Amino acid sequence: MLSVEKCPICGGEIVIKEVDKLLRGGNHTAILKVSAEVCLSCGERLYSVETVRKFAKI
Ligand SMILES: [Zn+2]
Repeated sequence: MLSVEKCPICGGEIVIKEVDKLLRGGNHTAILKVSAEVCLSCGERLYSVETVRKFAKI
């Protein structure tokens, strides 16, 4: 589900991609696969509110 239809920075087209997100906490490193909205024009990544909440839990 897209929270935005166009890039707020350049107005480019937004697509949803699976990206690896690296999380570091102490000695542990976790890699999460998350879906992010990525601008095709400038590459800006926009994480959904749901995804950001997930990060906050970890
Ligand atoms: Zn853009």
